[in-house]
Amino acid sequence: MKASIAYVDACVADIDEDLLADAALPVPDHMPEEDHFWYDKEHPVIEEGSLFRSTNEFRMLIRTFAIRGKFDIKIKDSDTTRFLGHCKGNACPWRITTRTTEDGKTVRVNKIVKPHKCSSTAAVTTSMADQAWVAEKAMRYIQTEPNIGASELRKKLQAEYKCTIGYHTVNKGKERAKNSLYGTWGKSF
Ligand SMILES: [Zn+2]
Repeated sequence: MKASIAYVDACVADIDEDLLADAALPVPDHMPEEDHFWYDKEHPVIEEGSLFRSTNEFRMLIRTFAIRGKFDIKIKDSDTTRFLGHCKGNACPWRITTRTTEDGKTVRVNKIVKPHKCSSTAAVTTSMADQAWVAEKAMRYIQTEPNIGASELRKKLQAEYKCTIGYHTVNKGKERAKNSLYGTWGKSF
């Protein structure tokens, strides 16, 4: 049994290497029109060829994408211009590679290896909801209810995104959102 797991790991490492080599190939990048950058932030569509305004924006959207799709992505950074993310599901082949285009900002999805062969991670605390993600999503709840507690906010986020988020993450994310909305530390992130 161990040998077969090692074999799968070795195969996965080979696939990752090929994908990253592929992502490094210089392809002509067209200057995207501004309207290429419209996305439904709550239900983002991420496909091969999709363009995103910046790395930060892409990362926020792929977190929502993974949470909505009920899977966890491990992002393996390779360098500043490209990265590889893979599904954390057991031996799941799902992969995504992106590269930054010639303007140095726009992120283009290079390749997505489908489909998922993993089971849902909905019952597991998602690693996709980090403090920055919680802060962004918490804004509208805080705007309507400035004194909302972390437990209540956590309940609302978990119901909205149908996932499990750590209390600590929600609490820290809430503080970030409040600082951003009202606080003097708002400009620090
Ligand atoms: Zn998967």
